[in-house]
Amino acid sequence: MLVYLDNAATTQVCPQAARAALEVMTEEFGNPSSRYAWGGRAAARLREDRQTVADALGCAPEELFFTSCGTEGDNWAVRGAVRYNRHKGKHIVTTAIEHSATLNACRRLEQEGYEVTYLEPDEGGHISVADLRAALRPDTVLLTCMLVNNEVGTILPVKEFGKLLRKKCPNALFHIDAVQGLARIPIKPRLWNADLLSVSGHKIGAPKGIGALYIRKGVHIAPLLYGGGQERGLRPGTEPLPNIAAFGTACRLRESCIEQNAARVSELADYLETQLAQRFPWAVQNGSPDLPYVRNYSFPGCKSEVLLRVLEMHEVYVSSGSACNKGRASHVLAAMKLPHERIDSALRISFSPSNTEADIDALLDAVAEGAQRLKRDET
Ligand code: PLP
Repeated sequence: MLVYLDNAATTQVCPQAARAALEVMTEEFGNPSSRYAWGGRAAARLREDRQTVADALGCAPEELFFTSCGTEGDNWAVRGAVRYNRHKGKHIVTTAIEHSATLNACRRLEQEGYEVTYLEPDEGGHISVADLRAALRPDTVLLTCMLVNNEVGTILPVKEFGKLLRKKCPNALFHIDAVQGLARIPIKPRLWNADLLSVSGHKIGAPKGIGALYIRKGVHIAPLLYGGGQERGLRPGTEPLPNIAAFGTACRLRESCIEQNAARVSELADYLETQLAQRFPWAVQNGSPDLPYVRNYSFPGCKSEVLLRVLEMHEVYVSSGSACNKGRASHVLAAMKLPHERIDSALRISFSPSNTEADIDALLDAVAEGAQRLKRDET
């Protein structure tokens, strides 16, 4: 039996989203730019799904631009914002716990002459408003940070960040990477004073290959591509309607039960915590998560790469950190200044509302076997 507890890496496509994609692929397959009625039907469907995703972000459909993934949205926001505003300054503020999509976009900009300040987290994985205040400068052109950390489940104080940025650097743009927040908590770019906000479909039950970037009305960034004028000319290319239909469907389903899902996932996180305390009192939690969806625990003495192999033999899937880090030591836990042994033995467990207590039992049985094996190998 497959036990999948790596839902921060990606999620199973929900049947309704898959059906919506199939219908658009095989029946309503027109090109929304075609002038005839068949194209008009596709355009109407596109409008409907854009409205649904826009509703999930509390924005106008004209403020929503479909992208191919969260990484694209993050890169476009960061590079597009600074390129458009290059005459205003060359200083960017971000955090040391961002996803590599943002971190590597910032690192590339450093090579191009920008200066980047990386705000450091505390031991719990939180970023402080006071640190942001100290980092902002008259030449700051962009603040880019995540809403929910994908490795330890902390929420960044985006509302306070947005308020402070408006006050201290009214000309700077504010980008939020909300990839791990969508459908888990209400997304409120207006309330947070965000100019740009990126999300991704495959984290919420839509297929891989679809995301969106919110660009606040009146905000200008450089286009991502040049082409046929789709997405208001900023991200042209024939719209991937099957993926968009699935994204709209997944958004509608998940948005309608944010609280219900959070309550269910909280039960799972609590169950994991009590079972861990009973069976592995020596395990330590990394970070102080604000959301139940992601948990990160270290099993000192058990290297995570060895544990992961044992878990895999039992078809139990979790990860040692971000899937994009491909097994490299977590930069998030390192930024939290955790000791090497803890970083080396960390497992990230990330839930979907359809996980069960039995999944957690299977995980912990496999961890117990892994820990025993490691002890045996040591003696
Ligand atoms: N930002 C965060 C916080 C993520 O967790 C991820 C994916 O793990 C991304 C961005 C990248 O999203 P995508 O996989 O859609 O490119």
